[in-house]
Amino acid sequence: MAPELGRLITDLGERSTYDAASQCSRCGYCEQACPTYVATGRESHSARGRNQLVRQLMEGKLKDPSAAQEALSTCLLCGACSTACYAHVPTADIVLEGRRKLAEEPPALVRLLSWLLIEHPSVLAVLLKCAYAAKRMGLPKLFAPLLRLLGFDALVEADAHVREAPYGFLFEKLRRKQWSENPEWLYFAACGPNYLYPRVGLATVKSLEALRGPGAFLDNGCCGLLSYNYGSIDDARTLAKRAIEAHEKRGKNLPVVADCSSCVAHLKSYPQLFSGEIAWRQRAEAFSDKVRDAVEEFADCELPEGTAKAVTYHESCRACHGQGLRTPKALLKKACGDSFHELPESDVCCGGAGAFSFVNPELSNEVLVRKISKIAVSRAELVLTSSTSCLIQLAHGLKKYYPQGHVMHLSEFIALRLSQGKHELHGKTTRA
Ligand code: SF4
Ligand code: SF4
Repeated sequence: MAPELGRLITDLGERSTYDAASQCSRCGYCEQACPTYVATGRESHSARGRNQLVRQLMEGKLKDPSAAQEALSTCLLCGACSTACYAHVPTADIVLEGRRKLAEEPPALVRLLSWLLIEHPSVLAVLLKCAYAAKRMGLPKLFAPLLRLLGFDALVEADAHVREAPYGFLFEKLRRKQWSENPEWLYFAACGPNYLYPRVGLATVKSLEALRGPGAFLDNGCCGLLSYNYGSIDDARTLAKRAIEAHEKRGKNLPVVADCSSCVAHLKSYPQLFSGEIAWRQRAEAFSDKVRDAVEEFADCELPEGTAKAVTYHESCRACHGQGLRTPKALLKKACGDSFHELPESDVCCGGAGAFSFVNPELSNEVLVRKISKIAVSRAELVLTSSTSCLIQLAHGLKKYYPQGHVMHLSEFIALRLSQGKHELHGKTTRA
């Protein structure tokens, strides 16, 4: 059995996982907010059903605990149920505790990845570069039938979903950059921008420098979300401690800004990892207080107006449900004017959810189709969002179902608008 957290921080205070699950009164008020319930119509695939299963699992009342496996593994961990719930029952965390109770050990691939992230990040970088070179040559597609035969279906799905294969990583570029001696903020490179979307991290840094003054790179490792969601709590704690120490070393009063909302929500939840370690709990609280999502950092910034394609905004689950950060409407309306189109159901999950789309491709696709149909209804050509998983999933879905649309991180949009403004300003100055 995998180690569990045992205690969760809920809106009603800290309590045992069992007590947190027992807060669910089974009212069903959150049913229609749950994408997997809406897609399947199955009670076991709703928050109410899942909370009950975890409670019964903990009471030892489930005759066949493996029956809970499918219901718990198909939870997107989106948190929409908690937003809809009057008591904010933390179903996603409860589901993860249930999964840990059921799991003998984390899957081998996750164990390998966690080990590389903790012990040998430079080896991981080399392996990823080899994998990306193979992807650019089309090898995974060529060997897809063999990979499926060997049981690596998730790898085949990952290859089909992920369109990027960058030549260099973000941390390499940021280490070469000249940084200020007196930074006013620190940039935390989450794994998505680091290994998959370096352009997102560069856009965030560029925009922060333009809008918030000089900063510095924290030169951090993984935040530990992969271990928290799919692997071991001990690994998640190790990685959290490293991030906290890195921040304390660089200047613990400086804000830490990151641009993958899933990782930011996890960084903000570090105190929950240390309920039994008072000293680390206090350090985690001090760290989490300083963490900022690029979404909140840019929400009140002044952007030059400009002509734009029809723009809409998809709210990453871990921004809106995980952190309470909603669409930066004032910013987008000011920057885009009438080109900003509201997205119906903007806070409903796109079905990406980390590795969910690779592991549960059919259910993920059902959720995705609904999201893309809403984007089509909005008539947007450009969809903005704030987490790596949404970027992967929406790029995949738009290409497949609505090719006139494309997706971009909010930071990229801001960096682009700032540079357009600079050029326009420069053009005006020259003409004058
Ligand atoms: S999670 Fe909350 S809203 Fe949903 S059934 Fe339980 S108590 Fe009701
Ligand atoms: S976290 Fe999302 S998928 Fe899971 S029960 Fe809640 S609403 Fe449903």
